[in-house]
Amino acid sequence: MSTLAQRLQQVERRIAAACEQHGRPRDSVTLVAVSKRKPVSAIRQAYALGVRDFGENYAQELQRKAEDLRDLEDLRWHFIGHVQRNKAQLLVGRCELLHAVDSVALLDRIEHLAQRKGVIQQILLQLNVSGEDSKSGARVEDLSTLLAHARELGHVRCAGLMTMPPFTEDPHQVRPLFERLRQLRDAQTSPAALPWLSIGMSHDFEVAIAQGATHIRIGSLIFGPRD
Ligand SMILES: *Cc1c(COP(=O)(O)O)cnc(C)c1O
Repeated sequence: MSTLAQRLQQVERRIAAACEQHGRPRDSVTLVAVSKRKPVSAIRQAYALGVRDFGENYAQELQRKAEDLRDLEDLRWHFIGHVQRNKAQLLVGRCELLHAVDSVALLDRIEHLAQRKGVIQQILLQLNVSGEDSKSGARVEDLSTLLAHARELGHVRCAGLMTMPPFTEDPHQVRPLFERLRQLRDAQTSPAALPWLSIGMSHDFEVAIAQGATHIRIGSLIFGPRD
């Protein structure tokens, strides 16, 4: 049995090695520790070990944990799940970054809430690059419309792109999907305006770092399997 500290150290070592291999500074990659379905005690442990970015995918679970952990003032919450319109008010202004925004209607909803709260909400657009599993992410063809719309909003800052490939046993199979997302980002007239790429999970984060990931979302490798 390994401890959380050992698993985290191992993950950190692998991130550092992948950054080194691809000529990237370690601080160009943010480790988002995905704590969904894990108790706040585990989050406190990871925080004590230096982790500051945590990812959740249920709005109410994030809200509950954020309240329990509000003494950890520099902890940053990332919402990595699909944002439901009626749950968005639990997230806007509380999360550092919403990773999975995928429609004009949702952009408008976030804008409305952010304006009311007097905040600028950072978001990523989630794209369904593989074309499979149409449930998550916008179609690639809709990217320019979404970006143009986001640029019109005063309280939403679109900072990049995210994708969640279908699960494959072999992490190298996701490489073309990550590469495609990066190319879509780079093809924008001002790629510097979309600096972030949220790609990579426990089983494929090294491939993601090779393809330019700025945010990797790692759950089970740090916190152990979820039940
Ligand atoms: C659960 C989840 C992760 C983390 O998955 P692991 O395989 O446990 O690392 C990453 N991204 C999203 C969107 C998730 O829902």
